[in-house]
Parts: sequence; C-alpha cells; structure tokens
Amino acid sequence: MARYTGSVCRLCRREKTKLYLKGDRCYTDKCALSRRNYEPGQHGQSRKKLSNHATQLREKQKVKRYYGLLENKFRNYFEIADNMRGVTGENLLKILESRLDNVVYRLGLANSRAEARQLVVHGHFMLNGHKADIPSMQISKGDVIEVKNKSKNSEKFKSIAENHKTTVPQWLEVDVEKMTGRIVGEPVREDIELPIEEHLIVEWYSK
Ligand code: SF4
Repeated sequence: MARYTGSVCRLCRREKTKLYLKGDRCYTDKCALSRRNYEPGQHGQSRKKLSNHATQLREKQKVKRYYGLLENKFRNYFEIADNMRGVTGENLLKILESRLDNVVYRLGLANSRAEARQLVVHGHFMLNGHKADIPSMQISKGDVIEVKNKSKNSEKFKSIAENHKTTVPQWLEVDVEKMTGRIVGEPVREDIELPIEEHLIVEWYSK
C-alpha cells in the first residue's frame, strides 16, 4: 500500500492549515504551523494570490492529506460520491468519514489517522465480531468496532485507554474500558474540524 513518508508537518505548512496529522502534538505550541506559519521552501514567505484553478487544487490536496490518501484512491471516492444521490461534496466527506481508520481515530482508539491505519493493518480490531484489517472498510450505522482481546492488554492500548480524552462525535459511542465503539448514526459535516469548501473539490474534478 503506497503512502506518503515525508514530514507531515510540511503538508500542513504547504496547505497553511492544521491537518492534525501528529496526534497530541498538534494541540500544543510545538505544532510546526504555530511556529512557522508559512509555506516550506525558498519562496514560502512570499505572498501570492492564487488563481481559481490553484485554489481548487489546494482544497483537494488539503482534504486528501487530512485523510491520509493518495490521488488514485481519493479520485475513486470522488467518483463514487458523484454517482450517489445528493450533494457530491457532502457525499464525499461522508465516505471519507466512514472509513474504518477514520472511525478508529474518531473513537479515540488511536492518536492520529496514520496510527489508526497502522493499528488496523496490524490486525488489532474486530468489526462486528470479525477480523477487520483493511483501513478503507466502510463503516455504517449499527456496526461495532472492538479492539481484539489479545491486543487490549498491550502497552499501546493500555496507554490509549489511560490517556483517552477524546470527545467522540454524536454519531459514535465509545466504551473506553471495553475498548469498543458503536456507530449510532451517520457522519455529520459539522464534526469535521478542518475548514473545508468541498464545492471547490467538485469543481476541480468536474473540469
Ligand atoms: Fe504538525 Fe500537527 Fe501542527 Fe500539522 S497540526 S503542523 S501535523 S503538529
């Protein structure tokens, strides 16, 4: 599975937006964007006005990076969203929010989406009682996600349970003691902390 392996803080600086890619650090004054709020590179501090085209591209890149996806996968999601009933941009965000790795992160069972993805791939989770090790699995209302019994006693999950302070979105419920999450509704646009203008992404792919 291809993935980005460079500095993730650089991605935030490139988008000039907090993408929350480093877990707890993102909420402290150690955040690279708080200290250097300009684009990386030689011309990072020069001001430039973006064209419409560039603005659409940046919005697409921002959301793609927030969810830790590469172009092909992201484009596939856009096509699925475009073929669904309703508003394409909202459909796209709903699909992205419903990925297993995102739900694990939203439940506070991982410190970042990247960590959630790794924990899922390493087989620490069950979905409705069955092994679930594919980060892109789509989760829906009524599903139950649980950390495997064998993994619950690992140092990693003990630490996650001890430090759990995540307020979960209304469409999720979590039982930290049992390391279990339940999906009780559908993802809501307002729960996404990133300022997104999804219509720009639709415009980008609709050319
Ligand atoms: Fe780095 Fe997180 Fe700050 Fe982004 S939000 S620059 S990932 S610390």
